[in-house]
Amino acid sequence: MARASPRKRQPVNYNEDHKDDDLDRKPSKANGLAVKAETKPIIEKTTAVLKRKAEPETKPREAPAASKKRKTKTSADDSMPLAERTAVSALKKAMYIGAHVSAAGGVQNSVTNAVHIGANSFALFLKSQRKWDNPPIAPEARDLFISGCKDHDYSAAEHALPHGSYLVNLAQPDPTKAAQAYNAFVDDLNRCETLGIKLYNFHPGSAGSDTKAAAIGRIAAQLNKSHKATKTVITVLENMAGSGNVIGSTWEDLRDIIELVEDKERVGVCIDTCHAFAAGYDLRTPETFKATMDSFNEIVGANYLRAFHLNDSKAPFASNRDLHANIGTGFLGLRAFHSVMNEDAFRGMPMVLETPIDKKGADGKTVEDKQVWADEIKLLEGLIGMDPESEEFKKLEKELYARGADERAKIQAQVDKKNSKPAKKKK
Ligand SMILES: [Zn+2]
Ligand SMILES: [Zn+2]
Repeated sequence: MARASPRKRQPVNYNEDHKDDDLDRKPSKANGLAVKAETKPIIEKTTAVLKRKAEPETKPREAPAASKKRKTKTSADDSMPLAERTAVSALKKAMYIGAHVSAAGGVQNSVTNAVHIGANSFALFLKSQRKWDNPPIAPEARDLFISGCKDHDYSAAEHALPHGSYLVNLAQPDPTKAAQAYNAFVDDLNRCETLGIKLYNFHPGSAGSDTKAAAIGRIAAQLNKSHKATKTVITVLENMAGSGNVIGSTWEDLRDIIELVEDKERVGVCIDTCHAFAAGYDLRTPETFKATMDSFNEIVGANYLRAFHLNDSKAPFASNRDLHANIGTGFLGLRAFHSVMNEDAFRGMPMVLETPIDKKGADGKTVEDKQVWADEIKLLEGLIGMDPESEEFKKLEKELYARGADERAKIQAQVDKKNSKPAKKKK
């Protein structure tokens, strides 16, 4: 596998492109939505998504027909779903596609935010990921989360996938800092159990100046301790893009951690498609997708795979850079996601988008356009059962790939420049 030399990194944030989320922020207005099961044919919707996406991004979107009818309600457009949820039973394969939504204002808001974008699964932060000390989940927030999941037919156990705090490094060697990391970690696991959530996704950690083996040993020891302190939650290791001394960019790292975990029922893996690709695991063609999954199954084991983060990559293959792109616009391309969406073995798992949704508003300020996720969910659902040789697929693939051309060229140039440096320095 091609690997770039380790770069200097910030000690706590392993990500270049993950957006912050803060539970202290004001809640979104997307509350109290009524959601009907989607019955429209998927192909029709995919075409509609493509048409909508093809519009210039500066132009305000036309309100969809459904929301026009409900105009009487209020002026708060935020309270109307950006897309209706697809009934998973209407899909050719039971794929639960969603996004990492905001839980600002309380965990209960993640449910309404998921409904808002037509998501069938969702990720969230269980507390502010920028602070070590957080108040416990309020009983009211807990009850609203549980009743919200019930009302909107989400299985919190199966399809809510919280993301761990970026502050936590379970490989931390310093005893005081290790205790702090462990306490924050196990606090999250307890929050999961309070909310009826079964899967908890986190970044394995960073070795710092220590050896990988020692770091892996410490991660596993912390996991074992946390499993004994809790009852049911499954700790799900996320694969990483492979920068610096970060653990988890190879299947072997994940295997080695799992090997040291005593209760194998309590550990799993979440594959981030962007991270895998950046780490040197190709997914672009049906053949490379198969080879990558075969190697995962052989080295880690198919039974440990629990979830996906669905992200395209702004950075080229094996560049070790963690830069998420919108689906089909990055170096992975739409064919990779067609392979993922049509893999029987992935049915039932939460598949969460962490793609960029920041747009420049008319006033020059950055705003989040959640329509992007609503559209990407429909796009991915539309790939299930679609013939990749069809004109429809080719058109979609070409159109999306063209949209990412400038961004790909920009990052490619950065990577090329960096790669050419060591050669120039040689005497
Ligand atoms: Zn992550
Ligand atoms: Zn990432």
